[in-house]
Amino acid sequence: MPIANGDVTNGTPISHKVEVQDYRKALQVLESYDSRDGLDIKSLLNSKDNGALTYNDFLVLPGYIGFPASDVSLDSPVTKRISLKTPLLSSPMDTVTEESMAIHMALLGGLGVIHHNCSAEEQADMVRKVKRYENGFISDPVVLSPKTTVGEAKDLKDKWGFGGFPVTESGQLHSKLIGIITTRDIQFHPNAEDLVTEVMSKDLITAPSGTTLAEANDVLRKSRKGKLPIVDSDGNLVSLLSRSDLLKNLNFPLASKLPHSKQLISAAAIGTRPDDRNRLQQLVEAGLDIVILDSSQGNSMYQVDMIKHIKEKYPQLDVIAGNVVTREQAATLIAAGADGLRIGMGSGSACITQEVMAVGRPQATAVHAVASFAARFGVPCIADGGIQNVGHIVKGIAMGATTVMMGGLLAGTTESPGKSYINREGKLVKAYRGMGSIDAMEDKKAGGGAKSAGTARYFSEGDRLLVAQGVSGSVLDRGSVTKFVPYLLAGIQHSMQDIGVKSLVELRDEVNNGRVRFELRTVSAQAEGNVHGLDSFEKKLFS
Ligand code: IMP
Repeated sequence: MPIANGDVTNGTPISHKVEVQDYRKALQVLESYDSRDGLDIKSLLNSKDNGALTYNDFLVLPGYIGFPASDVSLDSPVTKRISLKTPLLSSPMDTVTEESMAIHMALLGGLGVIHHNCSAEEQADMVRKVKRYENGFISDPVVLSPKTTVGEAKDLKDKWGFGGFPVTESGQLHSKLIGIITTRDIQFHPNAEDLVTEVMSKDLITAPSGTTLAEANDVLRKSRKGKLPIVDSDGNLVSLLSRSDLLKNLNFPLASKLPHSKQLISAAAIGTRPDDRNRLQQLVEAGLDIVILDSSQGNSMYQVDMIKHIKEKYPQLDVIAGNVVTREQAATLIAAGADGLRIGMGSGSACITQEVMAVGRPQATAVHAVASFAARFGVPCIADGGIQNVGHIVKGIAMGATTVMMGGLLAGTTESPGKSYINREGKLVKAYRGMGSIDAMEDKKAGGGAKSAGTARYFSEGDRLLVAQGVSGSVLDRGSVTKFVPYLLAGIQHSMQDIGVKSLVELRDEVNNGRVRFELRTVSAQAEGNVHGLDSFEKKLFS
């Protein structure tokens, strides 16, 4: 029997009653529906049966794709005054952000917040390195003094794996350049006791400070030398360019810089104890642009006092307060003058706060509660913690955050502190620990012990006993952030394209006016949305 209209079950046609004969009227008919498909943000979050939501508890419904993914703008504010080209921040944790991470996150358009589980001097030094960094130029080269022997230079070559060292009068940067030592100069030199000044090359080709990377690369290419020292008008060494880095000198068009500045934006975290005021003074002198007040429960008289102190003493410095998860907490800090807020309590991957303290809030609900309130005052919000994949980043932004902060997801990258190692199962991993783990709290990195010099995020001065709010462990090695972050950014752009919005601002607007819709996910929906039914598989995320 011919089937004119409908589907087939067991060979029997099922006929549909066609209400509208003209299929071209589908869009008009859609308009007559009294509500759009899916849930608006309020219905999503107020659905009483579900309690508070985590990122995994819901999905965003797709919209209309009317533009290429590469058109999606990821610009977003991180404080009232400062906007970034990408919405990604690395967390102020001692296994996540020191100068290398801070520099690379800023080069890629985000921000790395330097941790404070170290002395004020060490932290200020890291801030200084971020501010001094110029892409392609080595701003802290190994420098030899005229008293260095050939034997010592050979040892340094073995230690660092390269053999081109500038020699200056004092053996330090910012001192008069007098020569350069190459591997060839020392390799077969018979007497290890001789001074490098006897074998170094004095016929130097240099470039003046202020030379652009393109110009310097050009000089280096023509010079046939291995290294190009950059010197100031008095002949003092200020940085170095290396031939072996020529190809690696990528361009970073999204780099986070303040208007009219060539320097990267630097951000660092501090606590709220009296000592932290001295620490902050040193950070500001080193060039700090944004300070984050690092408390797990930020709604305190200590933060209010610190914000007031900062606003009075350093009006040019932007201050991000937190962490908070409720409107009430946010209100205190906004009223005190915070330029941004950091949201999250208990959602971090290495965090046990919710278990131990019985306080906290599931992250999606927390972000929406705080960010929707803060938006009324133009205060940008960071969704901090619990980001495991690209989808979580997009959901954090859909809930109202302007940026997201990641710890565990970035801890396995080359730019985080420490080295990767092979674990017992033969996997390449890197250490990652919560700043409230006993390990981190007891770390005596600064020599004076954590209580005198390090982070006070999880304990108070008078505490006799340390109560852990975090664990220490490891995460899989992820390679360099220069590959991983661009993957995250491309993923965000594709997700936004699916949702049908061309910018992060548009996403938040369309969520607020009810055009971007959501769906709750049952436990089985979550299982369906993950890989299932395969005997084995490899989860390779990008190539
Ligand atoms: P992740 O990206 O899920 O690993 O979360 C990182 C965030 O966890 C950080 O930015 C902090 O807000 C938070 N965090 C860091 N250390 C601890 C801890 O020891 N306990 C609770 N939360 C922590």
